[in-house]
Amino acid sequence: MTQHIVVVGGGAGGLELVTRLGRSLGKRNKAKITLIDRSATHVWKPLYHELATGVLNSNLDEVSFQGHAKNHHYRFLRGSMAGLDREKRVVRLAPLFNEDGDEILSSREVAYDYLVMALGSVANDFGIEGVSEHCHFIDTAEQAESFRKSMLDAFLHINDASSKDQRELAINIVGGGATGVELAAELTKASEMLHDYGYTDLEHSRLKIRLIEMAERILPPLSEKVSRKVHQELEKLDVTIHTDTSIGKATKEGLYTNDDQYFEADLHVWAAGIKAPPFLSELGLSTKKNNTIKVHATMQSIDDERIYAFGDCAFCPQGEDDGVPPRAQAAHQQAKHLAKNLIAALAGEPLKDFKYTDRGSLVSLADYDAVGRLMGGLARRGVFMEGVMARLAYASLYRMHQVTIHGFSKTAFTMVADSFNYYLKPRMKLH
Ligand SMILES: Cc1cc2nc3c(=O)[nH]c(=O)nc-3n(C[C@H](O)[C@H](O)[C@H](O)COP(=O)(O)OP(=O)(O)OC[C@H]3O[C@@H](n4cnc5c(N)ncnc54)[C@H](O)[C@@H]3O)c2cc1C
Repeated sequence: MTQHIVVVGGGAGGLELVTRLGRSLGKRNKAKITLIDRSATHVWKPLYHELATGVLNSNLDEVSFQGHAKNHHYRFLRGSMAGLDREKRVVRLAPLFNEDGDEILSSREVAYDYLVMALGSVANDFGIEGVSEHCHFIDTAEQAESFRKSMLDAFLHINDASSKDQRELAINIVGGGATGVELAAELTKASEMLHDYGYTDLEHSRLKIRLIEMAERILPPLSEKVSRKVHQELEKLDVTIHTDTSIGKATKEGLYTNDDQYFEADLHVWAAGIKAPPFLSELGLSTKKNNTIKVHATMQSIDDERIYAFGDCAFCPQGEDDGVPPRAQAAHQQAKHLAKNLIAALAGEPLKDFKYTDRGSLVSLADYDAVGRLMGGLARRGVFMEGVMARLAYASLYRMHQVTIHGFSKTAFTMVADSFNYYLKPRMKLH
């Protein structure tokens, strides 16, 4: 009987996995592959800060799951996973509503022989008062789009010459990790671009971006050299950086720190940490405190060998205490490995343990710069990079994802189309 592999979550990892499974198993009818996602389209998550500032036009970079499924020999089902029945081997999907709140699809069950969960992560507000109500998050494309609209409204207001309100536009970003740092640089770039597109009163000097980090330096997981360099670059862009500063409360008007400082601002963005979606800890599978599903190094749940999890929503052990980090490059490597393990599982062969290879980390500072460290080859301890080479290396991460999901020739055509669009279309989404 044809086995059914159900993958929930078509993000950085899940979409690569179904593409590989579709090409190897689906195409030859060796297994039925189904992808379930709550969205109709995929945008690679590391681009979300560009979506949030409009520097990336989602219409140009999004992939329709339905269209992609047809070309890659898998089936796509739109739906949001809400539960699991391990005895019946079914995934429960919540009802689907349209924008007006009308129910389009009622709750459903999807049967599986093998289930893979690649549901990603959500922002962690650590239960801090007012954060979920008053801060923007950029964990989904919809949230990024919502921030972009608020940002455009705020820029429009500040640009209005008839308004007597000639004050600064302040934006608080909480979290000095890669997301917060990259967003700070993109916001500066977005304000400069809007100035060129006719927001003539929107002077750089009127934008006040604060980056607030709890640790003693920004980018704590990266080397001190990278952190120092990025700190200097952001200061050149007039971003004010507060390290050793933790937020204790958020209101609509401002953020209160635990040492009694108050940062008033028009917009607040929370990028201070992630956790797996909370419902994962209610499925009857073992999870960590941050809701990540505990899996063996084969990526099988420690409780059920027919259930796999990977990417941000899983805790996959590496060494004694460590887990695979929640990063797109990890999800990319895991998708490749898991495709092989699932093929082995269907053939009744032993599965192999996944070993994460750190290829380094690069931080993009919009068009201004990119900084980071690349690992591999002869550079066992990594090579510090900045400038054009770092920017090219950063861009190549996305191109690698595109090659996996579209193949070489389509990615090459996409690159040509991107260079035409650079001249044909506005450099940012303006509406
Ligand atoms: C702004 C930003 C910048 C980043 N930059 C980098 C970077 O430079 N380098 C790097 O390595 N990493 C980066 N990351 C981290 C990286 O994006 C994640 O580690 C990576 O996307 C994780 O892949 P994933 O497949 O586990 O989850 P995701 O890519 O988040 O995909 C999860 C998928 O699951 C779907 N989903 C969620 N819940 C449900 C549900 N209940 N039912 C159905 N579908 C569901 C979502 O719609 C989504 O398609 C960045 C993250 C952000 C937010």
